[in-house]
Amino acid sequence: MSVSEKIISQTNKFGANNYHPLPIVISEAEGVWVKDPEGNKYMDMLSAYSAVNQGHRHPRIIQALKDQADKVTLTSRAFHNDQLGPWYELICKLSGKDMTLPMNTGAEAVETAIKAARRWAYDVKGVEENKAEIIGCNGNFHGRTMTAVSLSSEAEYKRGFGPMLPGIKLVDFGDLKALEEAITPNTAAFIIEPIQGEAGILIPPAGYMKAAYELCKQHNVLFIADEIQAGLCRTGKMFACEWEGFEPDMYILGKALGGGVFPISCVVANKDILGVFNPGSHGSTFGGNPMACAVSIASLEVLQDEKLADKSLELGNYFIEQLKKISHPSIKEVRGRGLFIGVELTEAARPYCEKLKELGLLCKETHDTVIRFAPPLIITKEELDWALDKINKVFTN
Ligand code: PLP
Repeated sequence: MSVSEKIISQTNKFGANNYHPLPIVISEAEGVWVKDPEGNKYMDMLSAYSAVNQGHRHPRIIQALKDQADKVTLTSRAFHNDQLGPWYELICKLSGKDMTLPMNTGAEAVETAIKAARRWAYDVKGVEENKAEIIGCNGNFHGRTMTAVSLSSEAEYKRGFGPMLPGIKLVDFGDLKALEEAITPNTAAFIIEPIQGEAGILIPPAGYMKAAYELCKQHNVLFIADEIQAGLCRTGKMFACEWEGFEPDMYILGKALGGGVFPISCVVANKDILGVFNPGSHGSTFGGNPMACAVSIASLEVLQDEKLADKSLELGNYFIEQLKKISHPSIKEVRGRGLFIGVELTEAARPYCEKLKELGLLCKETHDTVIRFAPPLIITKEELDWALDKINKVFTN
């Protein structure tokens, strides 16, 4: 039995069943490349669902981690730490918002955004206590906590976990009229991913996001952009909402905020919204810890200094163009923005991902029929050409 086989059987025996990974064990990684314990090398075209936008183990981020580990790792929020203030200022300047609230995982930041929106509805908008409503989109993915699955339209995400959180309505992604009809005087917020990642890299019709934002403004409803996967340069802009030239009321960020090195997430908004929190109303032992903040500062600096948004846009355009040249009866559509790309098939995508893995390229199907290509944004054109060669082989054989 190889080391990889042993680890996979150990994982299957002792781990509760919540994922369906490809049969590969990763034991080393650098940049866009990973290795298994047997020394086989693979290109990572998933980037841990966009958490590794800066590339695996970016030297500057690893240095920040090591330096901070030698100083202080955790204080809890019972005391201040010297990394949190500078991180606050950086994230606010980057997003153009007044304040932020850090958490650890994406789903926790979604929880935070929904709590903020509900309290805002009662304290600011004047909605009657316990009547606040949240509107989400069919096909969304906001995580796996009870709030996030209550927002979901996927039966399997909810089965056996009820009762769900009340006060939630779902409308079709991209349907402005449905949103307008769903809004009531009790609506606190509309939460949306600017591009639905887990649903298969679904891009809404041009103009929809901005029109939805304006509709929300008209009805005094908060517009929350879940940019956990689409944000932080992935689509070729720092924030995916920039594609339609507007700023949402709240951004939810995660994943690449910690450079794939340390978990950190946050909600960013202006004071009239996040100001509804007061000491005691929300918290997390690890939220805003100095390790996460130090790593996040370096991660954000890498995104900016290495112009990873521009790189994503330029290389994404090239990659999409080349993918569109592949002619195969099973390819239904190639779509994407920046290096956030989906190839939709007329059949199951998993066997294609398995064949690509055999050729040294790691990617993962999403929603059964879509292959998602989302490599680290530090990838080079030569590396993309290498990937295209493998993809062409799989579709021509
Ligand atoms: N929101 C979006 C858009 C996501 O893509 C994800 C994760 O894939 C989440 C929320 C949940 O983040 P986490 O897995 O860190 O809880």
